[in-house]
Amino acid sequence: MSGEARKLLVEYGKKLFESNMVGGTAGNLSVRVDEKLFAITPSGMPYHELEPEDIPILDMEGQVVEGKRKPSIEFRLHMEIYRNFSDVHAVVHAHPIYCSVLSILRLPLPALNETMLLYTVHVPVSEYANSGTEQLAKNVVEAMKKSKAVIMANHGLVCAAESLKKAFDMCETIERTAKVYVLALSTGRTIYTIDEQSALEAMEFLRKNYGQR
Ligand SMILES: [Zn+2]
Repeated sequence: MSGEARKLLVEYGKKLFESNMVGGTAGNLSVRVDEKLFAITPSGMPYHELEPEDIPILDMEGQVVEGKRKPSIEFRLHMEIYRNFSDVHAVVHAHPIYCSVLSILRLPLPALNETMLLYTVHVPVSEYANSGTEQLAKNVVEAMKKSKAVIMANHGLVCAAESLKKAFDMCETIERTAKVYVLALSTGRTIYTIDEQSALEAMEFLRKNYGQR
């Protein structure tokens, strides 16, 4: 189980770097191994140099139980999400540009298009706290009760899902929609959002009908 999680994190770490959603060694990803353990990317290591053995395995108290590397300083954020949401099996945290713009404006992303509705009806902004703190983890968990994608104030984006692929795709989709929103805001013209009832209906329809079975 932990071997598989480690391989996945190495693979998606490279994808995250190539996607431009992080710069340098920023951002972090994790996968739940079972009820008591999760695997997370190490602190400050270049993504293209990562090997499966560089991925530490932590328990739900934050103790490293396998591996020699120091975990990401954001391990508390990932841990609190797993502790609070049993349906979450992977977490991706990144600093994509347009979500970062919304994060300093502290502006939530409303329902703008159906692509984002595959994942969420809106993306809230969690309250500010410094990186690596328990308070940051608590603030994100609070916002995550409304949406599994959360913009972190003056920081970036975090997406949680039942698989790493879904959490990653979610980050890319939210960032793309955030780009459209920021460009639309820059025109100074009226922005029309999808009303809540229609958004919820579209979400339900997409959930049942979109993609291959
Ligand atoms: Zn960060």
